[in-house]
Amino acid sequence: STAIALFTRNLRVHDNPVLHAAARAEAVVPLFVLDRAVLDGPFHRPNRARFLHDCLTDLRDRLRELGGALVVRDGDPATEVARLAEEVGADAVHVAADVSAHSYAREEALRAALPDGLLHVHDDVVTARAPGLVTPSGNDHFAVFTPYFRRWQEAPLRRVVPVPDAIRSPRVRRGGLPSRNELIAGSPSPDLPAGGETRARERMAEWYRDGVADYASGQDDLAADATSRLSPYLHFGCLSPVELVRRAGIGDPERAFVRQLAWRDFHHQVLAARPGAHDRDYRTHHDRWRADPDALRAWQEGRTGVPIVDAGMRQLAAEGWMHNRARLITASFLTKSLYLDWRLGARHFEDLLVDGDVANNRMNWQWVAGTGTDTRPNRVLNPVRQAQRYDPRGDYVRRYVPELAEVPAVRVHDPHRLGEDELDRLGYPPPLVDLAEATERFRRARGKA
Ligand code: FAD
Repeated sequence: STAIALFTRNLRVHDNPVLHAAARAEAVVPLFVLDRAVLDGPFHRPNRARFLHDCLTDLRDRLRELGGALVVRDGDPATEVARLAEEVGADAVHVAADVSAHSYAREEALRAALPDGLLHVHDDVVTARAPGLVTPSGNDHFAVFTPYFRRWQEAPLRRVVPVPDAIRSPRVRRGGLPSRNELIAGSPSPDLPAGGETRARERMAEWYRDGVADYASGQDDLAADATSRLSPYLHFGCLSPVELVRRAGIGDPERAFVRQLAWRDFHHQVLAARPGAHDRDYRTHHDRWRADPDALRAWQEGRTGVPIVDAGMRQLAAEGWMHNRARLITASFLTKSLYLDWRLGARHFEDLLVDGDVANNRMNWQWVAGTGTDTRPNRVLNPVRQAQRYDPRGDYVRRYVPELAEVPAVRVHDPHRLGEDELDRLGYPPPLVDLAEATERFRRARGKA
């Protein structure tokens, strides 16, 4: 018997139900398809392409250690899978379920392209607890996190599956990995993390050994950088969310960390139930966003004159990653203080985030914009107060905004109060908006004045 393991967002050999199921056959073809629809679309950006290349290289090497040979093809996944299935005489094709409109379409196309009964879709690969497993009575999904989390904790969690002992792959024509340059058009961020399962597992081990104990107290401390930075590995599936939940201890810091993993599942189940929400308001409808291309550009380039916002945006450009607290502040600034459409912000994040992910990015943007699942959609974060609270010494700002390196803590978050001449001398812009007026404008626009 021969099985194809189609890798998508599960680029790992550990705890991978897709590979595990395929490995029950006598011969296994591990396959990755460079999906033309993705490669030619806006989601294919240098940071994620570089990271993906690392992931595929590492996956090829890990599979080789097991005796298997990764096949990489370029084209339409359903066409390529069907062609390969015929070539090797496959009696099964295994793939992970996923939640985006794109992955639904892919699954449907696979089903149509393959003979009946060949396709096996595994539910519990991309999330710890699959969408549909945790549902409220009378509805298809939870729209509020707290009750979701309560039920999520009590729901069954599958066991970790072992790495196959050995894999035997039949010879197939074509299927090498493209070179880095072939895959990456453009320049990745200078401080992008390295991808791949090997690096992911090192980081996971470090995190559980040295990091997680301080998570509950340090997760919002911008300068401490005390979060796991596992998000890109989770996005590409170099790590299994089930394994992460199972390996976490049961103390308070671990509980706080597992709660964040549940947020990930939460946003996935919202998108699974409402795939259109990647682009349409999930709850309330606001179509009167302002148009202001200059302000949008200033935000993207990290020169809004609000240091905490600029620090976040510059961290994003430099690392392809941003601290969660900074994501909240910069997104709130764009949507509520500048009153610009959340989709513009989400798109810019997707241009750069190495963990950029339809479910997490789009649903978090909607949460912040007040169009999604936040139960207090009209609150406005004051970025200066947020900065004083979560970056009290200003070290995060100074790390990413060198113009302010010498400004003392008392003024580093509102340097315009030093006066115009001093701002000029520092080479730092005055604030793009008056924050109090901006809040008023937002409240009026939402009918909450
Ligand atoms: P940790 O704090 O160590 O958390 C562990 C894991 O939990 C993360 O790796 C992530 O998988 C998950 N997680 C934590 N917070 C959230 C959350 N709010 N929603 C969903 N999952 C969460 N996360 C992405 O993975 N991809 C995105 O594209 C993305 N876009 C975002 C956009 C906005 C506007 C906001 C406010 C948040 C976004 N997040 C996104 C969520 C969160 O900011 C990141 O997951 C987190 O900063 C990643 O860093 P970490 O791995 O160190 O997180």
